[in-house]
Amino acid sequence: DLVPVKRALLSVSDKGGLIELGQALAAKGVDLVSTGGTAKALREAGLAVKDVADLTGFPEMMDGRVKTLHPMVHGGLLALREDAGHLASMADHGILPIDLLVVNLYPFEATVAKGGDYDDCVENIDIGGPAMLRAAAKNHAYVTVITDPEDYAPLLAQLEQGGTTLRFRQECAANTYARTAAYDAAVSAWFAKTLETPAPRRRAFAGTLAQTLRYGENPHQSAAFYTDGTGRPGVATAVQHQGKELSYNNINDTDAAFELVAEFDPSEGAACAIIKHANPCGVAKGKTLLEAYKAAFDCDRTSAFGGIVALNRPLDAETAQEITGIFTEVVIAPGASDEAKAIFAAKKNLRLLTTEGLPDVRDGGLTFRQVAGGFLVQDKDNGFVGLDDLKVVTKKAPTPEQMADLLLAWKIAKHVKSNAIVYVKDGATVGVGAGQMSRVDSALIAAKKAERMAEALGLPQPLTIGSAVASDAFFPFPDGLMEAAAAGATCVIQPGGSMRDAEVIAAADEAGLAMVFTGMRHFRH
Ligand code: 5GP
Repeated sequence: DLVPVKRALLSVSDKGGLIELGQALAAKGVDLVSTGGTAKALREAGLAVKDVADLTGFPEMMDGRVKTLHPMVHGGLLALREDAGHLASMADHGILPIDLLVVNLYPFEATVAKGGDYDDCVENIDIGGPAMLRAAAKNHAYVTVITDPEDYAPLLAQLEQGGTTLRFRQECAANTYARTAAYDAAVSAWFAKTLETPAPRRRAFAGTLAQTLRYGENPHQSAAFYTDGTGRPGVATAVQHQGKELSYNNINDTDAAFELVAEFDPSEGAACAIIKHANPCGVAKGKTLLEAYKAAFDCDRTSAFGGIVALNRPLDAETAQEITGIFTEVVIAPGASDEAKAIFAAKKNLRLLTTEGLPDVRDGGLTFRQVAGGFLVQDKDNGFVGLDDLKVVTKKAPTPEQMADLLLAWKIAKHVKSNAIVYVKDGATVGVGAGQMSRVDSALIAAKKAERMAEALGLPQPLTIGSAVASDAFFPFPDGLMEAAAAGATCVIQPGGSMRDAEVIAAADEAGLAMVFTGMRHFRH
């Protein structure tokens, strides 16, 4: 079933590898046909190439919007080579068969990612390219279609045997439709973002394969990483400076860490988050990164081992030095000094990722979860609660210091799996209770961890004594709140809205707590 290639149409935006491909095809006696820029590049390399304009009898026009949209091209791609009627049409109109199509599309995703303006983005929506790709892929019985420079080498390997196999052409067709679908999804997502469409309705979802991963959450699961083309600073767009390839769990945890630390405006102070299994085991603010890292580490030193560290400012040498004190999987920061990089270089297993700045946590976007037979899609939780949104509900009001810790605890609780209970003192977490089925247990576990840390650090008492506590959702009964009070919390932040709010507020008053309601909850499952 080998199909030889006699005529190829090349029309590529990414000219990488083009000349080598053109030379290899020419050496095999393949006739080359190309659009303007591609033809120019091939000619400059001394290759003989026919212009599409000569094939169609029409000039490329309207700034390239209309180049290949013509029956001479689409007939050549779509004609069934063994169908008498199709052959007659080809003969009648002088349509030449095109056996190989090499197209990569206008860089729409890259234009969006680099912040192109509206007109720029619109102009970078490729029309003729996807039309040709879809035509050639449909006719894969006869036509080979390539849309990624990475596939040039496998293509040439196929041609070495005299032609392409059906299996190869089918795989190319499958890749092609994945590419055109992802392309249109990127256009749709850009429109949605530009128009600030509130709900994820009638939205196409697709990404671009960035990396196949060694395995998924567990070694028996295969996995891959896709980028969504938004260019949002984060693990998908970060530069990795050293260390092994990131794993599925690394990527997931690094994302959780960086999204959390991005909550902290670097101009207002340094911040550090340490993540294990997608939950923070220490988060702190500080005057310096070093101070923030140390305080975050002291929340739960046991769990921090093998963790992921995210910083809201470029990594400096002193913090890098401190981080190398224990085994850390990944460090992500919006930059790193040369000195810091040099310190990490000695730690072969530590991965350092740097980004261009922090993501905007108020930015929209979608989150996905698969369920059997479908997907759940929702807006990202970019809800924000400020001082003005808080309502004091107890007799006692929090002091300004307590208020600062309450807001910090609240910001962190948003990034902790429900049921989330977060104790904060003096700008640092001192206990995190995550992912429990009962809020009481989350309060208890966090307090227990704080007790253990106090023993390990040789402190006279757990740091939860005199702390601020946040609950990601309301206390349905006073019991969870009482657990927090027993652990030493003196002020509380929670959404409110329970049918037993009055009972919970009365219990808080009785325990001498100051409590504020946010009116917003941050479930995270
Ligand atoms: P070139 O650099 O060769 O001038 O242009 C190559 C690009 O043009 C490719 O990305 C290809 O997908 C795109 N292209 C080919 N034909 C058409 C067309 O008819 N309309 C538009 N908008 N783009 C086309």
